[in-house]
Amino acid sequence: MARLGGDEFTVILRRVSAVDAINEIAQRIIESLQRPVNIAGRDHQVRASIGITRFPEDGNTIEELLRNADLAMYQAKQSGRSRAVFFDPKMARALPAPAESGLFRAVRRREFALYYQPQYALHNGELVGLEALVRWQHPREGLRFPKDFVPAAEQCGLMVEIGAWVLDSACRQLALWREEGIAPARMALNVSVQQLRGGDFVQLVGDTLARLGLPPQMLELEVTETVFAEEDARLALRNIAALGVRVALDDFGTGYSSLNYLRQHPVDAIKIDRTFMSEVPDNYQATTLLATIIDMAHALGKQVAAEGVETLPQLDYLRERGCDVAQGFVLARPLNVADVTERLAQRSGSTALLRRAAG
Ligand code: C2E
Ligand code: MG
Ligand code: MG
Repeated sequence: MARLGGDEFTVILRRVSAVDAINEIAQRIIESLQRPVNIAGRDHQVRASIGITRFPEDGNTIEELLRNADLAMYQAKQSGRSRAVFFDPKMARALPAPAESGLFRAVRRREFALYYQPQYALHNGELVGLEALVRWQHPREGLRFPKDFVPAAEQCGLMVEIGAWVLDSACRQLALWREEGIAPARMALNVSVQQLRGGDFVQLVGDTLARLGLPPQMLELEVTETVFAEEDARLALRNIAALGVRVALDDFGTGYSSLNYLRQHPVDAIKIDRTFMSEVPDNYQATTLLATIIDMAHALGKQVAAEGVETLPQLDYLRERGCDVAQGFVLARPLNVADVTERLAQRSGSTALLRRAAG
């Protein structure tokens, strides 16, 4: 018997193959778990739902057997608690791909982590912000990157829940850093268009900031231009800006990149997509285009950040052209909480020392 995570356990039965025998054991487990447990004078009751797979009928690998047991367990939960359900190949066909990939479970168990990539001001090299980037800590397969699960999460509506988790944990981390006196000037989060539909998000942002006592201008929300296509999302963006939260247009240069968007919508900054950077400074046309985007955005009063900066010549070029902020592997990779905290502390080291000396 093993606990694989959260409130989920796996039992392997050897030398049992008759359906009746398996069922009997499953029922015994369910019944024994139903007995109330007394903790500190109060009775608590838990219920179990069981999904069952058989080897080799339901799968040849551990992964396959566990995934199919998961699917059977969802079925068990759906048909009311305290049940044991055998896997049936029909279940795999009926469910959308994201469910199969374990995303629902990941959301339930909060199997996510945030990494933080530093952003630097080009004119003085100071760390001015952090972008929070979500990772899925898969219990069996290790760290997974957004490209492998964000599209699926958006497809089945899970990005709303994941996004709410991202907002909460990033802001709580920011509040902690503030308490320690090492917070960066701002924190950027990526927001998918799905989160901006429905109207709850603005309230959530406002409540989170108020609960943690964070000034709104410390928060920057990164959106892509797809949000401008939807009435709901445009309105949400307007209300977010009205809170005093900054809005940045991410991946600029990959879509229509209409400069009119910058004029019409409450955008404080643009982030030039990294696909641009790869040809800079060697390709004349790419370089000219980059310089022009920087100038036009500045003319409209927007701040300009470049992402995916990987080489020193790129960095020099951006500085020369007056780009405001740079982010990329040449400066810093996305870091886990411990590493980014260390970097923030080093940066504020002298300030903290002075304060300690004074105190
Ligand atoms: P993005 O917002 O454009 O984030 C920048 C991506 O570029 C990050 O990938 C980052 O690790 C990567 N990157 C940074 N510097 C460099 C560099 O110098 N070279 C190269 N080749 N890549 C660099 P990541 O973390 O895999 O995120 C990918 C995308 O997933 C993000 O693109 C963003 O659109 C999305 N994403 C990440 N976290 C969240 C989230 O919490 N919510 C939502 N809705 N989307 C997210
Ligand atoms: Mg981004
Ligand atoms: Mg981007």
